[in-house]
Amino acid sequence: MASYDVIVIGAGPGGYVCAIRCAQLGLKTAVVEGRETLGGTCLNVGCIPSKALLHASHMVHEAEHNFAQMGIGVARPKLDWPKMLAYKTGVIEANTKGVEFLFKKNKVDWLKGWGSIPEPGKVQVGEEIHEAKHIIIASGSASASIPGAEVEIDEKIVVTSTGALDLPKIPKKMVVVGGGVIGLELGSVYSRLGTEVTVIEFMDAIIPGSDKEIVRSFQRILKKQGLDILTGAAVSRVETLKTRARVAYKLRKDDSEHELDADVVLVATGRVPFTEGLGLDGLGVTMTERGQIEVDAGYRTNVPGLYAIGDVIPGPMLAHKAEDEGTALAEMLAGQKPHVDYALIPGVIYTTPEVASVGATEEALKEAGRAYKAGKFNFMANGRAKAMMQGEGFVKILADKETDRILGAHILGPNAGEMIHEICVAMEFGAAAEDLARTCHAHPTTSEAVREAAMACGDGPIHA
Ligand code: FAD
Repeated sequence: MASYDVIVIGAGPGGYVCAIRCAQLGLKTAVVEGRETLGGTCLNVGCIPSKALLHASHMVHEAEHNFAQMGIGVARPKLDWPKMLAYKTGVIEANTKGVEFLFKKNKVDWLKGWGSIPEPGKVQVGEEIHEAKHIIIASGSASASIPGAEVEIDEKIVVTSTGALDLPKIPKKMVVVGGGVIGLELGSVYSRLGTEVTVIEFMDAIIPGSDKEIVRSFQRILKKQGLDILTGAAVSRVETLKTRARVAYKLRKDDSEHELDADVVLVATGRVPFTEGLGLDGLGVTMTERGQIEVDAGYRTNVPGLYAIGDVIPGPMLAHKAEDEGTALAEMLAGQKPHVDYALIPGVIYTTPEVASVGATEEALKEAGRAYKAGKFNFMANGRAKAMMQGEGFVKILADKETDRILGAHILGPNAGEMIHEICVAMEFGAAAEDLARTCHAHPTTSEAVREAAMACGDGPIHA
């Protein structure tokens, strides 16, 4: 039996970041991880592999559609799918090994195996029982099924994102159930590789909860790229035939029933917290109605010495949210007073163009009765975006009508996922749109569109 200050269960971005920060702050720390590799969903079957395939498939798209316009003559790219998957695996390995290295560097012990909590202050891994002053649950999430539908996931024909990242061959036809971030990213990957992709979304638009103006433009662009998007459609059944699957759905507007056949059906209807095998029932841990672990502002559960962070607690299921909670909790355990600003967690969709947002949407401001102004700037008028042949989309900054304080920002366009951060920083410092507008931005950059959108909150942009 070993004794620790902190044992973290789960080595995803919440758990591994928390453990490293604990170790940096002088706490004796171990992490229990049941997977063969560290990094959790994010590094193994989430953020990183999906971005590797998005990058590779974007290169294919560039070669097929844009090279010729720039005077680069190449033969039609020949796809070597096993090699593309091997490239993705290499990216995963480099990242998971990186976390292993960081554990060694910071003297964080990796307790290999699946952990459970037989009683407060104790963690069991296999036959071994370890003691800890603080136990942190960072066990993450798993793919959800389709609510109210009959579906059997075999990870071959009917797959979750995990299976979709490792298909044996590129399907001819794919149905994606769910028009959220994961469905659209993976749908884009296969569409670029030649698959006929149909996205079926229950709500009336894709990426529910996002700024409506962004969604309208984004949906139009995706359709132009070849994705077939059906909204307001409820999937009732996914039936596996021998080598294909059949999806039955009902259009909500007229209750008409339809069927679609596909080689692969990707179920991308969201994720649910994962707490199996931890022994939370026995400990009497309070859970929310949605199966998340209930915590207070200090990530404490109702059981003394037991904490939880990341996808397993309420809030957006995002790697950077989990990381920030991990860091904050470690600092709290070391006696510091950190703070996570939940109003300023950016969200990014890594398609082309990218979508990024932070803070309030126009719809939320209207609903709250807040007087605001919206400054918009199109990438069509941005020199750098045009040079990259990515002039689609726009930046929209929402600011308080009276004080000019930035309340939210929404970007659809090239590098949106990078550019959003200057707005996050500005908002952290309570900046006004004028502060952004008066800050010198290098030319030519796509970030100039952010500045011009900020100018549009005042007297108006220069280039429009
Ligand atoms: P996880 O990363 O899920 O890690 C939990 C770990 O705990 C797992 O490794 C699991 O094996 C381990 N574990 C669970 N129970 C036990 C136990 N009893 N004993 C030992 N180990 C245990 N987020 C973004 O911010 N950006 C993106 O671009 C993005 N893309 C995504 C793409 C896909 C396809 C998917 C599926 C997710 C994506 N996400 C993205 C979401 C992101 O992966 C999660 O929000 C993030 O991984 C949550 O981190 P976590 O530490 O809470 O849990």
